[in-house]
Amino acid sequence: MALVTMKYELAKAEKENYAVPAFNFFTFSNLAGIAQAAKNKRSPVIAMATVSGTKIMGENASVKMCEGVSEDYGIDMVVHLDHCRDYDMIRRCIDDGFTSVMIDASSKSYDENVDITSRIVEYAAKYGVTVEAELGSIGGKEDDIEVDDMSALFTQPEEAVRFVRDTHVDCLAVAAGTVHGFYKAEPKIDFARIAKIHTLIPDIPLVLHGGTGVSYEDLRKAIACGIRKINVGTEFRVHGISDTVKNEYAKLPDADPRNVCRSVIENCAVIAEELIDVVGSAGKAV
Ligand SMILES: [Zn+2]
Repeated sequence: MALVTMKYELAKAEKENYAVPAFNFFTFSNLAGIAQAAKNKRSPVIAMATVSGTKIMGENASVKMCEGVSEDYGIDMVVHLDHCRDYDMIRRCIDDGFTSVMIDASSKSYDENVDITSRIVEYAAKYGVTVEAELGSIGGKEDDIEVDDMSALFTQPEEAVRFVRDTHVDCLAVAAGTVHGFYKAEPKIDFARIAKIHTLIPDIPLVLHGGTGVSYEDLRKAIACGIRKINVGTEFRVHGISDTVKNEYAKLPDADPRNVCRSVIENCAVIAEELIDVVGSAGKAV
Protein backbone atom coordinates (compact mmCIF):
# COMPACT_ATOMS: atom_id res chain seq x y z
CA MET A 1 0.00 0.00 0.00
CA ALA A 2 1.45 3.29 -1.01
CA LEU A 3 1.05 6.72 -2.49
CA VAL A 4 0.10 6.49 -6.16
CA THR A 5 -0.23 9.05 -8.94
CA MET A 6 -3.49 10.61 -9.94
CA LYS A 7 -2.81 9.84 -13.58
CA TYR A 8 -2.90 6.15 -12.81
CA GLU A 9 -6.18 6.31 -10.88
CA LEU A 10 -7.94 8.54 -13.42
CA ALA A 11 -6.91 6.40 -16.39
CA LYS A 12 -8.55 3.41 -14.70
CA ALA A 13 -11.66 5.48 -13.97
CA GLU A 14 -11.86 6.50 -17.65
CA LYS A 15 -11.71 2.88 -18.76
CA GLU A 16 -14.41 1.80 -16.33
CA ASN A 17 -16.62 4.92 -16.38
CA TYR A 18 -16.61 6.19 -12.83
CA ALA A 19 -15.04 9.15 -11.03
CA VAL A 20 -12.42 9.13 -8.29
CA PRO A 21 -13.48 11.16 -5.25
CA ALA A 22 -11.07 13.90 -4.22
CA PHE A 23 -11.43 15.14 -0.67
CA ASN A 24 -9.76 18.08 1.05
CA PHE A 25 -8.03 17.48 4.35
CA PHE A 26 -6.95 20.08 6.88
CA THR A 27 -6.21 17.93 9.94
CA PHE A 28 -5.09 14.42 10.72
CA SER A 29 -8.55 13.32 11.93
CA ASN A 30 -10.17 14.54 8.73
CA LEU A 31 -7.57 12.62 6.68
CA ALA A 32 -8.01 9.47 8.77
CA GLY A 33 -11.77 9.62 8.13
CA ILE A 34 -11.11 9.74 4.39
CA ALA A 35 -8.76 6.75 4.66
CA GLN A 36 -11.29 4.84 6.76
CA ALA A 37 -13.95 5.36 4.08
CA ALA A 38 -11.59 4.28 1.29
CA LYS A 39 -10.78 1.13 3.21
CA ASN A 40 -14.42 0.30 4.05
CA LYS A 41 -15.52 0.85 0.46
CA ARG A 42 -12.39 -0.51 -1.23
CA SER A 43 -12.28 2.74 -3.18
CA PRO A 44 -9.42 4.70 -4.72
CA VAL A 45 -9.16 8.11 -3.10
CA ILE A 46 -7.43 11.43 -3.67
CA ALA A 47 -6.46 13.29 -0.49
CA MET A 48 -6.17 16.96 -1.34
CA ALA A 49 -4.15 19.38 0.78
CA THR A 50 -5.15 23.01 0.30
CA VAL A 51 -2.50 25.71 0.17
CA SER A 52 -3.58 27.21 3.51
CA GLY A 53 -3.95 23.74 5.08
CA THR A 54 -0.49 22.80 3.85
CA LYS A 55 0.95 25.96 5.38
CA ILE A 56 -0.53 24.94 8.74
CA MET A 57 0.27 21.21 8.59
CA GLY A 58 3.63 21.59 6.83
CA GLU A 59 4.40 20.49 3.26
CA ASN A 60 6.48 17.53 4.30
CA ALA A 61 4.14 16.50 7.12
CA SER A 62 1.14 16.59 4.74
CA VAL A 63 2.80 13.95 2.57
CA LYS A 64 4.10 11.90 5.47
CA MET A 65 0.64 11.78 7.09
CA CYS A 66 -0.80 10.43 3.83
CA GLU A 67 2.02 7.90 3.60
CA GLY A 68 1.33 6.84 7.17
CA VAL A 69 -2.42 6.43 6.84
CA SER A 70 -2.09 4.60 3.52
CA GLU A 71 0.04 2.02 5.35
CA ASP A 72 -2.05 1.92 8.54
CA TYR A 73 -5.32 1.51 6.64
CA GLY A 74 -3.85 -0.69 3.91
CA ILE A 75 -4.98 1.50 1.03
CA ASP A 76 -3.48 3.26 -1.99
CA MET A 77 -3.84 7.01 -1.86
CA VAL A 78 -3.08 9.97 -4.11
CA VAL A 79 -1.71 13.02 -2.28
CA HIS A 80 -2.62 16.09 -4.26
CA LEU A 81 -1.92 19.81 -3.79
CA ASP A 82 -5.16 21.66 -4.56
CA HIS A 83 -5.41 25.11 -6.25
CA CYS A 84 -1.89 26.45 -6.01
CA ARG A 85 -0.78 29.62 -7.80
CA ASP A 86 2.77 29.61 -6.49
CA TYR A 87 5.35 27.99 -8.78
CA ASP A 88 7.97 27.65 -6.03
CA MET A 89 5.55 26.06 -3.57
CA ILE A 90 4.48 23.52 -6.20
CA ARG A 91 8.12 22.63 -6.87
CA ARG A 92 8.75 22.17 -3.16
CA CYS A 93 5.68 19.96 -2.79
CA ILE A 94 6.81 17.82 -5.74
CA ASP A 95 10.25 17.54 -4.11
CA ASP A 96 8.59 16.52 -0.83
CA GLY A 97 6.68 13.66 -2.44
CA PHE A 98 3.23 14.91 -3.45
CA THR A 99 2.11 12.57 -6.24
CA SER A 100 -0.12 15.15 -7.90
CA VAL A 101 -0.39 18.95 -8.02
CA MET A 102 -2.82 21.52 -9.34
CA ILE A 103 -1.48 24.70 -10.86
CA ASP A 104 -4.29 27.25 -10.86
CA ALA A 105 -3.39 30.06 -13.20
CA SER A 106 -6.99 30.39 -14.38
CA SER A 107 -7.14 34.06 -13.35
CA LYS A 108 -4.26 34.85 -15.72
CA SER A 109 -4.36 35.39 -19.48
CA TYR A 110 -4.39 32.32 -21.73
CA ASP A 111 -0.71 32.77 -22.61
CA GLU A 112 0.39 33.21 -18.99
CA ASN A 113 -1.67 30.17 -17.96
CA VAL A 114 0.03 28.12 -20.70
CA ASP A 115 3.47 29.40 -19.72
CA ILE A 116 3.32 28.54 -16.00
CA THR A 117 1.38 25.29 -16.53
CA SER A 118 3.95 24.03 -19.07
CA ARG A 119 6.80 24.84 -16.70
CA ILE A 120 5.10 22.85 -13.93
CA VAL A 121 4.40 19.96 -16.33
CA GLU A 122 8.07 19.90 -17.31
CA TYR A 123 9.24 19.86 -13.69
CA ALA A 124 6.65 17.28 -12.57
CA ALA A 125 7.53 14.94 -15.46
CA LYS A 126 10.96 14.28 -13.95
CA TYR A 127 9.24 12.80 -10.90
CA GLY A 128 6.28 11.18 -12.65
CA VAL A 129 3.96 13.54 -10.76
CA THR A 130 0.51 14.29 -12.23
CA VAL A 131 -0.46 17.87 -13.07
CA GLU A 132 -3.97 19.31 -13.09
CA ALA A 133 -4.64 22.78 -14.48
CA GLU A 134 -7.75 24.93 -14.74
CA LEU A 135 -9.10 26.66 -17.81
CA GLY A 136 -12.03 29.02 -17.53
CA SER A 137 -12.94 30.23 -14.09
CA ILE A 138 -14.83 28.40 -11.35
CA GLY A 139 -16.86 30.77 -9.17
CA GLY A 140 -17.00 30.99 -5.38
CA LYS A 141 -14.34 30.98 -2.69
CA GLU A 142 -11.67 28.29 -2.54
CA ASP A 143 -9.10 28.64 0.21
CA ASP A 144 -7.90 32.22 -0.23
CA ILE A 145 -8.86 32.51 -3.91
CA GLU A 146 -12.20 34.20 -4.49
CA VAL A 147 -13.94 34.47 -7.86
CA ASP A 148 -17.01 36.64 -8.26
CA ASP A 149 -19.87 34.49 -9.60
CA MET A 150 -20.44 36.98 -12.40
CA SER A 151 -16.87 36.74 -13.59
CA ALA A 152 -16.80 32.95 -13.58
CA LEU A 153 -16.16 32.01 -17.19
CA PHE A 154 -17.09 28.65 -18.57
CA THR A 155 -14.37 26.60 -20.26
CA GLN A 156 -14.50 26.91 -24.04
CA PRO A 157 -14.20 23.45 -25.68
CA GLU A 158 -11.95 24.59 -28.54
CA GLU A 159 -9.70 26.46 -26.16
CA ALA A 160 -9.44 23.32 -23.99
CA VAL A 161 -8.08 21.38 -26.98
CA ARG A 162 -5.51 24.09 -27.67
CA PHE A 163 -4.57 24.35 -23.98
CA VAL A 164 -3.89 20.62 -23.65
CA ARG A 165 -1.80 20.65 -26.81
CA ASP A 166 0.14 23.73 -25.66
CA THR A 167 0.83 22.49 -22.11
CA HIS A 168 0.73 18.66 -22.19
CA VAL A 169 -1.15 18.81 -18.89
CA ASP A 170 -2.41 15.47 -17.49
CA CYS A 171 -5.93 16.48 -16.47
CA LEU A 172 -8.12 19.52 -16.67
CA ALA A 173 -10.50 21.28 -14.28
CA VAL A 174 -13.44 22.61 -16.26
CA ALA A 175 -15.73 25.50 -15.40
CA ALA A 176 -19.25 24.43 -16.31
CA GLY A 177 -21.58 25.82 -13.67
CA THR A 178 -20.30 24.53 -10.33
CA VAL A 179 -18.94 26.92 -7.69
CA HIS A 180 -16.77 26.53 -4.60
CA GLY A 181 -18.45 26.74 -1.21
CA PHE A 182 -22.19 26.45 -0.59
CA TYR A 183 -24.63 27.22 -3.41
CA LYS A 184 -26.88 30.25 -3.08
CA ALA A 185 -29.20 28.80 -5.72
CA GLU A 186 -29.51 25.36 -7.31
CA PRO A 187 -26.43 24.94 -9.54
CA LYS A 188 -27.07 24.74 -13.27
CA ILE A 189 -24.43 22.53 -14.78
CA ASP A 190 -23.73 22.75 -18.49
CA PHE A 191 -23.57 19.00 -19.18
CA ALA A 192 -23.41 19.44 -22.95
CA ARG A 193 -20.25 21.52 -22.52
CA ILE A 194 -18.61 18.80 -20.39
CA ALA A 195 -19.57 16.12 -22.93
CA LYS A 196 -18.23 18.20 -25.82
CA ILE A 197 -14.88 18.77 -24.09
CA HIS A 198 -14.65 15.07 -23.23
CA THR A 199 -15.30 14.13 -26.87
CA LEU A 200 -12.62 16.52 -28.10
CA ILE A 201 -9.93 15.48 -25.58
CA PRO A 202 -10.95 11.94 -24.53
CA ASP A 203 -7.52 11.09 -23.13
CA ILE A 204 -7.49 13.99 -20.66
CA PRO A 205 -9.51 13.25 -17.52
CA LEU A 206 -11.83 16.13 -16.62
CA VAL A 207 -12.25 17.43 -13.08
CA LEU A 208 -15.37 18.88 -11.48
CA HIS A 209 -14.71 21.33 -8.66
CA GLY A 210 -17.29 22.53 -6.15
CA GLY A 211 -18.90 19.14 -5.55
CA THR A 212 -20.45 20.08 -2.19
CA GLY A 213 -24.15 20.77 -2.65
CA VAL A 214 -24.46 19.39 -6.20
CA SER A 215 -27.30 16.86 -6.27
CA TYR A 216 -26.27 13.24 -6.53
CA GLU A 217 -28.23 12.96 -9.74
CA ASP A 218 -26.23 15.82 -11.26
CA LEU A 219 -22.95 14.31 -10.08
CA ARG A 220 -23.84 11.03 -11.80
CA LYS A 221 -24.84 12.88 -14.95
CA ALA A 222 -21.54 14.78 -14.97
CA ILE A 223 -19.67 11.46 -14.68
CA ALA A 224 -21.67 10.06 -17.60
CA CYS A 225 -20.52 13.13 -19.59
CA GLY A 226 -16.85 12.40 -18.85
CA ILE A 227 -15.95 13.80 -15.41
CA ARG A 228 -13.33 11.54 -13.76
CA LYS A 229 -12.48 13.41 -10.55
CA ILE A 230 -14.94 15.12 -8.25
CA ASN A 231 -13.64 17.58 -5.66
CA VAL A 232 -15.39 17.93 -2.32
CA GLY A 233 -14.00 20.21 0.37
CA THR A 234 -16.63 22.40 2.01
CA GLU A 235 -18.62 19.39 3.22
CA PHE A 236 -15.65 18.17 5.29
CA ARG A 237 -14.64 21.59 6.58
CA VAL A 238 -18.13 22.57 7.71
CA HIS A 239 -20.00 19.36 8.49
CA GLY A 240 -17.18 16.87 9.04
CA ILE A 241 -15.01 19.06 11.26
CA SER A 242 -16.69 22.28 12.53
CA ASP A 243 -20.16 20.87 13.23
CA THR A 244 -18.74 17.74 14.83
CA VAL A 245 -16.49 19.69 17.20
CA LYS A 246 -19.31 22.14 18.06
CA ASN A 247 -21.77 19.32 18.75
CA GLU A 248 -19.36 17.35 20.88
CA TYR A 249 -18.61 20.34 23.11
CA ALA A 250 -22.28 21.35 23.21
CA LYS A 251 -23.12 17.88 24.53
CA LEU A 252 -20.22 17.82 26.97
CA PRO A 253 -18.33 21.09 27.62
CA ASP A 254 -15.30 19.26 29.01
CA ALA A 255 -15.30 16.50 26.40
CA ASP A 256 -12.00 14.64 26.03
CA PRO A 257 -10.32 15.94 22.84
CA ARG A 258 -9.42 12.36 21.96
CA ASN A 259 -13.10 11.52 21.77
CA VAL A 260 -13.76 14.67 19.73
CA CYS A 261 -11.03 13.64 17.25
CA ARG A 262 -12.53 10.17 17.05
CA SER A 263 -15.92 11.68 16.19
CA VAL A 264 -14.34 13.82 13.47
CA ILE A 265 -12.79 10.67 11.96
CA GLU A 266 -16.14 8.86 12.08
CA ASN A 267 -18.20 11.72 10.66
CA CYS A 268 -15.71 12.43 7.86
CA ALA A 269 -15.77 8.71 7.02
CA VAL A 270 -19.58 8.79 6.79
CA ILE A 271 -19.49 11.78 4.40
CA ALA A 272 -16.74 10.18 2.27
CA GLU A 273 -18.48 6.80 2.08
CA GLU A 274 -21.69 8.37 0.85
CA LEU A 275 -19.84 10.24 -1.89
CA ILE A 276 -17.87 7.14 -2.88
CA ASP A 277 -21.19 5.38 -3.51
CA VAL A 278 -22.42 8.28 -5.63
CA VAL A 279 -19.33 8.52 -7.88
CA GLY A 280 -19.20 4.76 -8.44
CA SER A 281 -15.68 4.16 -7.12
CA ALA A 282 -16.58 1.57 -4.47
CA GLY A 283 -14.76 -1.73 -5.06
CA LYS A 284 -12.45 -0.14 -7.65
CA ALA A 285 -9.29 -0.22 -5.52
CA VAL A 286 -6.86 -2.78 -6.86
ZN1 LIG B 1 -11.51 23.66 -6.54
